[in-house]
Amino acid sequence: MHIELVTIGDELLLGFTIDTNGAWLARELAQHGITIARRTSVGDGAGEIADGVRGALERTGAVITTGGLGPTSDDLTKPAIAQLFGRAMREDPDVVESLHQRWKSLGRTGEIPRSNLQQAQIPEGAGILANNHGTAPGIWLEDDRGRWVAMLPGVPREMRGMFTEALLPRILARRVGEPTVVRSHTIRTTGIAESALSDRIRNVAGLDLEGLALAYLPGWEGVDLRLTSRGTSDEDAVTRLARVADRLRPAAGAYAYGDGNTDLAAAVLAALRGAGKRIAVAESCTGGMLGARLTAIPGSSDVLLGGIIAYHNDVKVAALGVRPETLAAHGAVSEETAREMAAGARRALGAEVGVSITGIAGPDGGTPEKPVGTVCIAADVDGVVKSFRAIMIGDRQEVRQRSAQSALSLVRRVLNGTA
Ligand code: AMP
Ligand code: MG
Repeated sequence: MHIELVTIGDELLLGFTIDTNGAWLARELAQHGITIARRTSVGDGAGEIADGVRGALERTGAVITTGGLGPTSDDLTKPAIAQLFGRAMREDPDVVESLHQRWKSLGRTGEIPRSNLQQAQIPEGAGILANNHGTAPGIWLEDDRGRWVAMLPGVPREMRGMFTEALLPRILARRVGEPTVVRSHTIRTTGIAESALSDRIRNVAGLDLEGLALAYLPGWEGVDLRLTSRGTSDEDAVTRLARVADRLRPAAGAYAYGDGNTDLAAAVLAALRGAGKRIAVAESCTGGMLGARLTAIPGSSDVLLGGIIAYHNDVKVAALGVRPETLAAHGAVSEETAREMAAGARRALGAEVGVSITGIAGPDGGTPEKPVGTVCIAADVDGVVKSFRAIMIGDRQEVRQRSAQSALSLVRRVLNGTA
């Protein structure tokens, strides 16, 4: 079954509101094996709405809209789509009654504003999708060929409630044949480029994806490999995803750190716990981000001792014992300084593992030898120090996020012997 989404609102086109409704609906429908064939966002104008919905109806005959159901003058979804279906608007007595009920239940007195009663104007022959979380009723409109449009509110909380309680049951009731699902499985990797990863996977002899779609999803955390199964039973999807994931994971080798939503920080804490080691962090350009990543994981206190934010060189010397000669000879952003920072954190806090980050997050401070994004990272495990220098891409925030992720990755690789 294929459905098109049309999300309505000038705020979506202006970029002030992110279309989270579209993303949420796509995920929910996928769980029931229903594919979103296309997502369109249009402004609040009646003509724009009609154009967007007309095209979607012609292509799939099954359309969900969100937005423009409110009581104000910019809410034109109902009349625009009613006109498309050649239906007049009329007042629905049941909706009038429920608006009065809701008005009273909220403890309001006096007359309901006229603009609220406007919400009881319903296209002729439409079905009502009950709104238990707000005033605007949703609308189900169907033509004599069975083509339908379901109109949901824009407010995410109301939209989600109405979809689950009123719309999804209707959609599922129309489905013919065996229920199918869309299911995904994610393998998370870090420290390897998308292209290098795809080369490794291409070289897996006799790899059969068994009809699953494979997507490479790069971001600052690394590259996620997402396998997706469509159009089979849940049981079949689960077994096939597991089987193919087991064939893919070895291709990613030591770069794969977990499945699903696994956070690298959680994987590092687990590795430290397994090795019976505790960690201390020393951060310059990330200013506590690495510590925040680790403390965000519940139960980190048995492994994380603490950290030192050594932003100024004087603090690198005084709190971490970095030698002034090292700073003078190699600079604050150097592997030499990073190594002394990691060792210093370990010593100062009495940990088995020390990890450090020092870099140029930008936008200023770059030089030809050390451009913006240059970051040096070191890990000291029981006195054995590993370090590297890299150029992180992105703006200040992304350089810092990538640096914290790379530091976690280095600790993980030192602990599992792949550094
Ligand atoms: P409306 O039903 O058009 O009056 O929308 C009410 C509010 O819902 C807007 O002010 C937005 O903040 C929010 N909203 C509308 N459409 C979306 C969407 N597609 N995704 C997330 N929020 C939305
Ligand atoms: Mg709106």
